[in-house]
Parts: sequence; structure tokens; C-alpha cells
Amino acid sequence: MKTKCIKCGYESEENLEKFHTPICNICLRFAPNSEDRFKEYISEKINTENLNSFRKFSEIGMLQKKAMVKKALQGKLMSRPPFGYKTENKKLIPAENFREIPEIFENFLNEDISLTQLAKKHNLSVNGLKKILTNFTYLGKIKFNNQIHQAEHKPIISSTLFNHVQKKLENLKRKPIS
Ligand SMILES: [Zn+2]
Repeated sequence: MKTKCIKCGYESEENLEKFHTPICNICLRFAPNSEDRFKEYISEKINTENLNSFRKFSEIGMLQKKAMVKKALQGKLMSRPPFGYKTENKKLIPAENFREIPEIFENFLNEDISLTQLAKKHNLSVNGLKKILTNFTYLGKIKFNNQIHQAEHKPIISSTLFNHVQKKLENLKRKPIS
């Protein structure tokens, strides 16, 4: 699947993102790290043809970097697979208990249940639960340096469910704790 860079319109299969926004590797390289500045940055559009020269000559370096990052990330996942996954032949695959993950996401989204109650229900700490609910691994992706990379393992929840849960979590944060 190709995604379109928000700043220059370049389409690629790299599926790079920053702050949940699709962006190409060239535009990403100059993107500010604060979200407000980032929004300002992407609001100033540029023509992708102007970047062709950069793209051509940065390709080799990017491929090397990508391979390195991929290796590092894969290693990270292998050393401690997240709840719901296990490793087999150096690959991440859904574990026997993988169905508990969509169940946790759906419980959180659809039921009027606090994080504490939900954590207890699944025998998790509240922090452990929060880590699960925000873990991009369940989408078949890996987060690294605030960027989301496509990974090789199978997703166990849909991006729609994941996004709804992120929205609900953000709303919770805004409310004062009672
Ligand atoms: Zn771009």
C-alpha cells in the first residue's frame, strides 16, 4: 500500500509517519520534533518534483539506514515479545493468548470500565495495560524514534479499533482524575 506525503505529495511504500501523519523520507528528515512546529511545517506545501534530486541521491543511504533500523527493531521485538505475541524461528507470531488483545481493546472502548478495573480483569498492572493499549506492535508496526515503521509480523487488531482507543485514551487524559 502506498501512502502520500502530506507535505510534497510524493507516493511511496515506505509508509513513514510522524505524529500519525504520512510523510516521505526527505520531508521527514527536516521535520521539526515539536508537534506544533510540525503542523506549521506540513502546512507549507512543496512540489515533489523539486525534491527529485535529493531523493535520487539519498536513496542508497536511506536503504542502508532502513536495513539497520529494521534489524535493530526486530532485535528489540525478539528480545521481549509484547503480550499476545511469541517468537518462533526468529519471527514474531501471535501467541496462544493473542485473542485477549482485541478483547482488552474492545472492553476498554465499549464498556464503562476504568483502567484500574480493566487491568485487574486481565491480571495486568495499570501501566502494563496502558502500554498494551498504545502499542503499535499490535498493528503489525514498530515505533522507533517517534516514527512508525511497517514491520513483518501479523497485526492482531485493526487500525480502526486502535485509533478509537487512542482517542478515548486522549480524552481520559484531558479529564481531571476524580
Ligand atoms: Zn515529502
